[in-house]
Amino acid sequence: MQKEQQDNAANADQLRTADLRRRDFIATVSASASMLWLSGCSKWFGSSSNATAEVRSITPPRLDSAYLGERIFCYRPMRRGAPNLSVGEVDGKLVACNYGHGGSGWTLGPGSASYVVGLLVASRKGSTMQTSTPITVVGGGCLGLFSAYELLQRGYTNVTIVAASFERLTSHNAGGLLAPVSMDNASGMQALINQIGIDAYRFFASVAKGKNKDFPAGASILPAYFERREDSGLEPYVGVVMQPAKDVVLDFGNGTKRPMVSYDDGIFIDTAVFMQSLTDYLRPRVTFVEKKITSYAELETDVIVDCSGLGAAKLQNDAEMVPVQGHLIMLRDQVPANLQHMILVYFDKGKTQSNQDVKRSFYIFPKHLLNTPKNDVGVIGGTFVESATPDTPNEKEFQILIDNAKKFYGLS
Ligand SMILES: Cc1cc2nc3c(=O)[nH]c(=O)nc-3n(C[C@H](O)[C@H](O)[C@H](O)COP(=O)(O)OP(=O)(O)OC[C@H]3O[C@@H](n4cnc5c(N)ncnc54)[C@H](O)[C@@H]3O)c2cc1C
Repeated sequence: MQKEQQDNAANADQLRTADLRRRDFIATVSASASMLWLSGCSKWFGSSSNATAEVRSITPPRLDSAYLGERIFCYRPMRRGAPNLSVGEVDGKLVACNYGHGGSGWTLGPGSASYVVGLLVASRKGSTMQTSTPITVVGGGCLGLFSAYELLQRGYTNVTIVAASFERLTSHNAGGLLAPVSMDNASGMQALINQIGIDAYRFFASVAKGKNKDFPAGASILPAYFERREDSGLEPYVGVVMQPAKDVVLDFGNGTKRPMVSYDDGIFIDTAVFMQSLTDYLRPRVTFVEKKITSYAELETDVIVDCSGLGAAKLQNDAEMVPVQGHLIMLRDQVPANLQHMILVYFDKGKTQSNQDVKRSFYIFPKHLLNTPKNDVGVIGGTFVESATPDTPNEKEFQILIDNAKKFYGLS
């Protein structure tokens, strides 16, 4: 595999530093705070800094078994060091890479596609492309679809998407919070990731405000609650595209109150809905081919955008790619008006039943699957089990998730 020598600030390998900083679960301090409620504190009236904080009433979701729907496993395509956002040459083909976004593929998607396609067209070979040059995007997840969309926006007319599957992907299952977390970025990459995230925020905000002519729905502006500002990854967005977070107290109406911070201009992406919108937009404009490839040589085109997620481990022979298992439970028969917000709190680390390291969090977002009743709204998650696979499903994590959700709301 021979890479084109070029100034590519996004080459994660070159920029990787020894002190990798985990952007997800950075909250060691937060974790210890959370342990307070995990250890049985059902009423928490907050610290003195929250004494004057705005109190917001939130009705807890229905979490009894009758209200719990589908249990979903999915796997974040995480690349240690940072996503691969680079352009190079592989066996004579020009290959742009756009994979490895971990738990932030949606958060970064539109910005990442814009950045990588920008690198492609600015590269030595890419700058000679015609708008009719055939280009293959490998992968039909959100990164692949946003990359194809970006190519169309730049006037390229001969785009094909090749994917092993277009259905029930990680991209459909993802929760939908816009927050650059659950990644593993080298410190030298953070400024770029921040910029890409800010660009993506602008894109989704335009959708949420009804200003995007191609995507009239699929994103909304909702409060995003975290325990600490540092937990959100959103501080670099404040003052650029977002307002500062506020200290608030969430009052669950049952004696349990939790001090939190709120980004009132948080963005929720209804991921399954947005996947459908992207597909509807692209279907008449690009060619869709369902096919698994084992090497770029199988593709007829000389220009490729690799958005194959975990598939890149083999296609790019990329040893930095790691599957990170997540557990999600869809909620059903809820009151949608009670779920007009997002919550993410980090808590304990432990071992799964397969003796794998697990970092546990609790989150809830107002996700809605296509073709399901209007009141079947909401998803709770989630776990973070590095290198777990379908052979190690760690089923017991679902019950732990439910138990912790109930503790969070003071329901148990
Ligand atoms: C539990 C969970 C919750 C999440 N929540 C959020 C969230 O709230 N916010 C957020 O921003 N992100 C979230 N994510 C992360 C997000 O889902 C991913 O980062 C994103 O979906 C990755 O998109 P992708 O297009 O790279 O990969 P995928 O959706 O996995 O798509 C990969 C595509 O490549 C194709 N492919 C792979 N190998 C080959 C091959 N050899 N040949 C042809 N095609 C191939 C596949 O068939 C598929 O079409 C979450 C993830 C999980 C697991």
